[in-house]
Amino acid sequence: MMKVGFIGIGAMGMPMAKNLLKAGFDLTVSDVSEEAVAQLVDAGAKAADTPKEVALASDVVITMLPNFQIVQSVMLGESGVLAGAEKGMTVIDMSSVSPTQTRQLVPRAEKLGVNYLDAPVSGGVAGAEKGTLTIMVGGPAEVIEKIMPVLKAMGKKIYHVGDVGAGDAMKIVNNLLLGINMAALSEALVLGVKAGLDPQMMRDIIGSSSGGSYALEAKMPNFILKGNFEPGFAIDLQYKDLELASQTGKDLGMPLFMGNLAQQIFEQARATGLGNRDISAVIQLWENLTNTQVRE
Ligand code: NAD
Repeated sequence: MMKVGFIGIGAMGMPMAKNLLKAGFDLTVSDVSEEAVAQLVDAGAKAADTPKEVALASDVVITMLPNFQIVQSVMLGESGVLAGAEKGMTVIDMSSVSPTQTRQLVPRAEKLGVNYLDAPVSGGVAGAEKGTLTIMVGGPAEVIEKIMPVLKAMGKKIYHVGDVGAGDAMKIVNNLLLGINMAALSEALVLGVKAGLDPQMMRDIIGSSSGGSYALEAKMPNFILKGNFEPGFAIDLQYKDLELASQTGKDLGMPLFMGNLAQQIFEQARATGLGNRDISAVIQLWENLTNTQVRE
């Protein structure tokens, strides 16, 4: 059985790591949060003090961290993953970062004979808990084949989408659309309530009509209608994903009209203190503008 390391045991990482334990992997973890580490040790993992120690104890090291700056420091720092890596080890960065960012790290890993894969995920905390994440992997087929049992312990649909960085690109394209759809749904629902429509009826009809979306199905019943904006998927993270899309558009010389507008909407939500709320809380911008609420 492969020895697996896991760094970044937050909202997503915690249930993903628990699924690795359930699948029987020998797991070593680290995080800046001692509480998170303690919780996994209770569940059967070993604790390491630094990413370097995680690497020393592992054949495969997974990272699930908030952003690239942190991924970079966890990989390249003095007590970072690469400082403890042996030839043949595989790093799987499952954080949402940009392909350009990932490709900066690849030569550093290759120089040490370390395989570096990008494998961002979709499916949220619920998918992480159930082990049903969609995983988009970039990298060489033979390396992915070897670590497939590790990915299968966390995800249901695993796609090899291309070379290193392709997983990140795929994730950005998906989350660009999620951000746009969430903002569009919010605007439309508030208009509906202003026009006198019943929210539950709108949910049912849009759900079986051409305006439907994941934003509607996942975010309207349990979040918007209940007025429960605990993440879920935080506005700050969606904002970050729109920034990755915006940056990728700039890198490729392509205008992203809808994506950049959506990012400004999430920027406004952050400016009003909603950064750590679920993305569905973006509806409050329109609700506050019109003194209307979309609730059951
Ligand atoms: P989170 O903030 O809940 O978890 C991040 C974890 O990383 C925390 O436990 C934190 O303590 C740890 N951490 C931060 N800095 C560290 C460091 N220097 N060394 C070690 N550990 C450190 O975030 P999350 O929601 O779990 O998201 C993680 C990644 O997954 C992000 O890139 C996010 O965009 C992506 N993602 C999130 C979701 C979601 O629904 N939450 C869905 C898909 C993808």
